[in-house]
Amino acid sequence: MDESSFTVGGALWINLCNTIANHNKKRADLLDNPEAAKRWLEVNELVLAQDRSKLDESDTWEQVSSRLHELRILSRTAISDLKKRESLSKTLLSSLDKILRDVMVHPNLVNKKEKWEIDFAGTNPIDHVTYHIIQSLLETVQTISPDRIRECEHENCILSFIDTSKSGRRRWCRMSTCGNRTKAAEFYARKKQNKG
Ligand SMILES: [Zn+2]
Repeated sequence: MDESSFTVGGALWINLCNTIANHNKKRADLLDNPEAAKRWLEVNELVLAQDRSKLDESDTWEQVSSRLHELRILSRTAISDLKKRESLSKTLLSSLDKILRDVMVHPNLVNKKEKWEIDFAGTNPIDHVTYHIIQSLLETVQTISPDRIRECEHENCILSFIDTSKSGRRRWCRMSTCGNRTKAAEFYARKKQNKG
C-alpha cells in the first residue's frame, strides 16, 4: 500500500476525497478495504488512543465507514462548489450542519509545538472523525483561495491537493510519482520529435 498518497491533499477533507484513486488506470476505493481505511485514519491522526480497539468492533467500524462515505460525497461536492462558485452552496452547508447536530465533542488541553492549545475530541470514533473532517473543510474555505485547490495534472491521476507553494504553480500531487512520470514522458516526446 502506497501510504504517501494518504496525505497529499494537504487537508483532511481533501485527503478523504483522495481515497478514491486510479491504480494502474483503474478506479480503486480505499474505503472498500477496512484495513487500508484504518491505516488512512491513523496516518491522518484521526484515531484517539482510547478508540483504537473500538474500531475493530464491527458495529463501530460500520458506522465509521458509512460516515466516511457520507463525508467523502460532501467533500467532493465542496470541491466542485468551490470550483464553480468559489463558496460552499447552501445545500451543502445545511447537510454539514445536519450531521454536526448529533456530534458530541469535549475540549482537551494539548501541547502542540511547545504551545498549549485547546483541542476537541469526539466522545466516540464516529464523532471524532466527523468533527475533524468538517472542521478541516471550514478551515480551508476560510484560509485558502479556491484556485489553490487543484487536481494533479498527470493524465491518469485524479488526486487533489492544496497548492501552498509560493509561486502557486504546483502541478502534481507528488513529484516522486506523477511529476517524474510526466517529466519523463515529456522528455521522450521531445526527443522523438527532434529525431523526426
Ligand atoms: Zn498525481
